[in-house]
Amino acid sequence: MEVTYGVLVFIVGLAIGSYLNVCIFRIPKEDSTVFQPSRCPICNTRLKPVDLIPLLSYLLARGKCRYCRQKISPRYFLVELLAGILSVVLYFQWGWTIDLAAFLFLSYVLIVVLFIDAEHMIIPDELVIAGLCAGGVLLIYNLFRPFQIYADRNWWNPLLGLVIGSGFLLAVLLIGTALYKSDEVMGLGDVKLMAPIGLFLGWRMTLLALFISVVLGGLFSLVLILIGRATRKSVIPFGPFIVLGTLISILWGWKIVHWYLEIGHIMLP
Ligand SMILES: [Zn+2]
Repeated sequence: MEVTYGVLVFIVGLAIGSYLNVCIFRIPKEDSTVFQPSRCPICNTRLKPVDLIPLLSYLLARGKCRYCRQKISPRYFLVELLAGILSVVLYFQWGWTIDLAAFLFLSYVLIVVLFIDAEHMIIPDELVIAGLCAGGVLLIYNLFRPFQIYADRNWWNPLLGLVIGSGFLLAVLLIGTALYKSDEVMGLGDVKLMAPIGLFLGWRMTLLALFISVVLGGLFSLVLILIGRATRKSVIPFGPFIVLGTLISILWGWKIVHWYLEIGHIMLP
C-alpha cells in the first residue's frame, strides 16, 4: 500500500516538475506561469499533450523538439526527475503529515531557485515571498503542534532560524563588501533566501544548511579554479549551494548531526 502511494507521489512529483520547468523558464522573463499554453522554448510552437508527458516525451524525442529539431536543454528532464525523486523520498521520510506538505513546498521552490540562480545569477523576490508566506503558516502551526524538524517546542525556534540564516549571510555580505570594496561578494538575494529557509528548518538545521552550503560552494569553486574554468575573481552564484545544503539538511540533517556527535564521543571520551 505504501509502495502504491509512493508510485503515485512520484508521478505527481514528475507532473509538478514539469510545471517547475515552466517557472524556471518564465519567471526571469516576468511572464505568467499560468494561463499560457506550453510552447517550445526555441521555435515557440505550441506543444500538444503528447509533447508534455514528463520524462517520456523528452526521451522519445531524444532531447529534441519534434517541430524544429533543435536540442532541448537536458534541464527539462533533470528538473522533472529531481522533483519526482525528491517527492517520493520526502514521502517515505515524513508520511502523510504537515511536515511532508511543508518540505515538498519548500523543495519545489528551491528547485526553481537553484536553476534560475545558476543560469541568471538572480533569486527572484516572488520565490522568497512564496517561501515566507508558507513559513509564516508553519510558524502558527508550530504553536499548536511542534514541527518535527525543529526538535523543540519553542515558538521562537523558526524565527531564530530566520535571524541566524539571513543574519549570517548579511554579515558575510557586509564584511566582504568592506574588505574587497566590491558588491559582488554575495548577492542580497542569498541573504533573502535564507529567511524562509530559516523558518522551515529552525535554528539548528539552518546552521547545518549554511555550513554544508559554504563547504560545497568552496569545494566547487576550488575545483573550477584547479581545472582552469574560473579564477579567484570569477563570480559564482551561491544560491544553488544554499539550495543543496538545505535539501541535504531536510533529508539527512539529524542523521548527520547524530553521526557527528558519535564520532565526537569516540574521539573525545
Ligand atoms: Zn521547437
